[in-house]
Amino acid sequence: MPASFRTWCTVSFSALRSNLRTLRRSAPRGTRVLAVVKDNAYGHGLVPVARALSRAGCEEFGVAFASEGAELRQAGIREPILILGSSLPPEFPTALTHRLTVTLSSLQEARELARAAEKARVTALVQAKLDTGMNRLGAKPTEFQHLLSFILHHPRLELAGTFTHLACAGSDPKFTRRQMEEAWILPTHPRRHYANTAAALSRLPYPHTHVRPGLGLYGLDPRPAGRAPLRPVLSWKSRILVVRRVRRGETVSYGATFRAPRDLMVATVATGYADGLPFSLGNCGHALVRGRLCPILGRVTMDMTLLDVTSLAAARRGEEVIWIGRSGTKNRTAADLAREAGTIPWEIFTRIAPRIPRLYS
Ligand SMILES: *Cc1c(COP(=O)(O)O)cnc(C)c1O
Repeated sequence: MPASFRTWCTVSFSALRSNLRTLRRSAPRGTRVLAVVKDNAYGHGLVPVARALSRAGCEEFGVAFASEGAELRQAGIREPILILGSSLPPEFPTALTHRLTVTLSSLQEARELARAAEKARVTALVQAKLDTGMNRLGAKPTEFQHLLSFILHHPRLELAGTFTHLACAGSDPKFTRRQMEEAWILPTHPRRHYANTAAALSRLPYPHTHVRPGLGLYGLDPRPAGRAPLRPVLSWKSRILVVRRVRRGETVSYGATFRAPRDLMVATVATGYADGLPFSLGNCGHALVRGRLCPILGRVTMDMTLLDVTSLAAARRGEEVIWIGRSGTKNRTAADLAREAGTIPWEIFTRIAPRIPRLYS
């Protein structure tokens, strides 16, 4: 990679394809994959990731909002694209122009969209969402039935499918069973889906036409003791800017929150919270340098972070630092960083700043 990069990510298409195959294998034969590429493909890069998945045979895509779908269409993606979020009326023209499928959670949304479709003299593709306990989007069962019948009787609305979303698919089988008992009213035609990564990998025994994985495609099994053979897709690297000796008793970084218990070698690394490295990793996170786990010392700053490199024989200015990825025999995942930062891997991925270059191979 160009030596001028201070911090950068690499994204492996072969790992992405391998994860797609793994997720396919855990679904019944014939189940199609709606790849969730919302929010810049979880920070991996919307268009490159969707193109790679499309070439690998992925049937459909899910985005967060209409403009992401438009970006995919402009990049030549022709598969069905479902807007997973709730769209506002000013976004309907974009959805209609680009043949994006709009998620409907209420009769109000359906009426608004029908009006926009009439005005544009087109038919809107829609999927009706049922709320089975997430209480975020979706209609409750009674309104859902009205919503379905409104859609089926409206000449400007075409029902492309129905779905629900699970709140604890990987962690709470009882809660999940209750959600799926409510979901029996979802028609199976033309599409019916409920399975995020955790549900897809758990092979839940409810009929569906599609699985809807996000995190699994990017290489992580979100289930507490999950061991699916997924491969990390993204690595996140940086470089050492400065190496210095810090004497016993001296402090490090803002707020002087770390005091050296003995003489230490400290490296200043070119990544900070403006790059998406969580501030909460201060004094508790780690990075890999030359295959060794090095602790973060003191607070993470805006574009630099300090590492204890005492265990390395002479760390050098310009040397590679791995936040996520492999170094020697050791590997760090977004889940490792998330645990240290007190967050979840989805947040680690999606907060890697857009300014950081992504290199695809
Ligand atoms: C984000 C999202 C998914 C993917 O979830 P993962 O846990 O990342 O697999 C699936 N369905 C909906 C509705 C989502 O919003």
